Amino acid sequence: MRTLLITHFRSDNSPTPRSRLLGGRRLWTGAVAVFVLMCFLGPVASQAWAGAKDDYANARQGMVETIAALAVLTEREVGRRALDTAVMDVMAKVPRHEFVPEILRGLAYLNRPLPIGHGQTISQPYIVALMTDLLRLTPGAKVLEIGTGSGYQAAVLGELAAKAFTIEIIEPLGRLARKRLARLGYGNVEVRIGDGYYGWKEHAPFDAIIITAAASHVPPPLVRQLKPGGRMVIPVGQHFLVQFLTVVEKHPDGSVTMRQILPVRFVPLTGDH
Ligand code: SAM
Repeated sequence: MRTLLITHFRSDNSPTPRSRLLGGRRLWTGAVAVFVLMCFLGPVASQAWAGAKDDYANARQGMVETIAALAVLTEREVGRRALDTAVMDVMAKVPRHEFVPEILRGLAYLNRPLPIGHGQTISQPYIVALMTDLLRLTPGAKVLEIGTGSGYQAAVLGELAAKAFTIEIIEPLGRLARKRLARLGYGNVEVRIGDGYYGWKEHAPFDAIIITAAASHVPPPLVRQLKPGGRMVIPVGQHFLVQFLTVVEKHPDGSVTMRQILPVRFVPLTGDH
């Protein structure tokens, strides 16, 4: 059986990536190519911030190329060789270095999760891109994110949708993300501090919902707050074990179907539910 473990969201503050488990010769070859590419990206990233202080354009472009390479490698799981162009354009635009602790800025454009304090992480760029792609956002969409963290994913959503709402359970993280998003001009992103398991009823229904922490099950309140015809993307599985990135579709007649995409590893969705 082929196994592909793409990402790891560690609950501690270590940024150490774990090994990727790739089955099949083609994927091994691809993995080696991506590894070499990532080794090459290290120096590119350092050059970018060594020069003009806020010129990370080359490093960000390198990150986008890595995402494109990983999309090819995950063609079988995702069903496509490339992610949506609009999503890739936004990945090339949003300044990820603004969303990581200053001391880690030099690592901001590597394809890896990074610690953001309080035992939480900013997600791996490839997974941010993939989850965003799977939401199939339209420019007029209203989207809800559970798990604001640094605010990076929310910024990506804000670039693609008309309005993004995001909920963070850890107050200092939510406050910081709110301030950061305002400073960067994301006026269409609203941050709330609270337990996202119950959604944001006042603004429901949503065209799309993304959960960036692992849940043991799909939260029923979030399904209720999804529009018929809407999509939810959520990692489902046991905490600290392998979970599956899952697409939940609510059909026009209100019926719900689920599709597992990839094994992933996220920090847990916490709260009293
Ligand atoms: N999307 C974030 C970003 O772009 O930086 C990264 C998300 S991080 C992997 C998961 C986040 O979910 C953490 O900040 C965590 O505190 C938050 N979280 C966990 N359980 C939650 C809940 N029940 N409601 C809201 N946020 C929650």
